[in-house]
Amino acid sequence: MKVTVREGDTLWYYSQLFDVPLQLVLDSNNMKESVEPGQKLEIPGYIKKEISLENGESLWSIATKRHLPLDSLFLLNGSRDADQINEKSTLFIPIKVSKSFIQSDKPYDFNTLNKDIRRLTAIYPFIRQETIGHSVLGKPIKELNVGNGPKKVHINAAMHANEWITSSVIMTFLNDYLGALTHRRTIRGLTMAPFYDQVTLSVVPMVNPDGVDLAIHGADVEDARQVIDLNHGSRDFSIWKANIRGIDLNDQFPAMWEEERREGESEPGPRDYGGEKPLSEPEAIALADLTKQKNFDRVMAIHTQGEVIYWGFNGQEPPETEYIVNEFSRVSGYEAERYVESYAGYKDWFEQEFHKPGFTLELGKGENPLPLTQFHEIYQKSLGVFLAHLYL
Ligand SMILES: [Zn+2]
Repeated sequence: MKVTVREGDTLWYYSQLFDVPLQLVLDSNNMKESVEPGQKLEIPGYIKKEISLENGESLWSIATKRHLPLDSLFLLNGSRDADQINEKSTLFIPIKVSKSFIQSDKPYDFNTLNKDIRRLTAIYPFIRQETIGHSVLGKPIKELNVGNGPKKVHINAAMHANEWITSSVIMTFLNDYLGALTHRRTIRGLTMAPFYDQVTLSVVPMVNPDGVDLAIHGADVEDARQVIDLNHGSRDFSIWKANIRGIDLNDQFPAMWEEERREGESEPGPRDYGGEKPLSEPEAIALADLTKQKNFDRVMAIHTQGEVIYWGFNGQEPPETEYIVNEFSRVSGYEAERYVESYAGYKDWFEQEFHKPGFTLELGKGENPLPLTQFHEIYQKSLGVFLAHLYL
């Protein structure tokens, strides 16, 4: 919500008036200094709404009825003169955003992701958004960052096309986390506020946007023939996991890649083909480059399905990985599994390269794409894992 600074107001005063942590007001406006009158300022966690004044309603009755500080109404309506405001037929009021608005009742495609990111960044402008690369078809791969802490934690989702439900799960968590930080709420009894200064959370909510759109909408005219050929002549892409060139992004990382290549498919297709060489695909390159640059302390890749958390790679993981995964398992009820006959995944490469804890979280049970009727249960089970990712 935008407000126009008045003579004598300070950032501290706005943080008090709207009951929002000062640091979030500062970060929403990229600001360290004091403000000037007339300047436009973002207040996180609110939207501005215009309401009609009914007969007999006044500034005072609206403030009382809606539990709003009177001065917030003066501020939003550009006057300190109550009589002047009372003469108007409509009034701007601040509405605290408390509900999640992330789409979870329809397949989560690239457009939906962008719409939700626009909304999140408009309401919580202290999120930092970056484009870390582009897909084969040129779609931007977005990274969202929250917090200023020394502990750097990363989560990515939808590396596999038909696992797009993972994008809406992690976006819902972001939405809940941002709301709790802003309005000083707890999640599962945990106070979120301290995490803002302790943790920098990096989220890449959709690693494979071309694949996700293909799995949800099918092939469009432009690339139809080629991709239908890769799909063995079928127009049903609901089982598609790979990127648009038929390369499985989670078989693309240089961690026993040759081994995986021998075991997997020998040519491009819906799944399990690791490419001509490791890191040949722009989506995998973007994720690897980000990981090298940001020096994450811990990473997690979200997939479906199986209700299992994979955590080791050839003993390359540090000892605390086991302690962490046991906590993940305790709070979610998911199984923890150390090794699996699979290589060249993002988590494998992270542990081999950096000797830090990496996890693959397999949400839900059933056949991919998991039905959206599972969304609520999946979110409730995985929420504890995301929280533990912050507090451990
Ligand atoms: Zn997967």
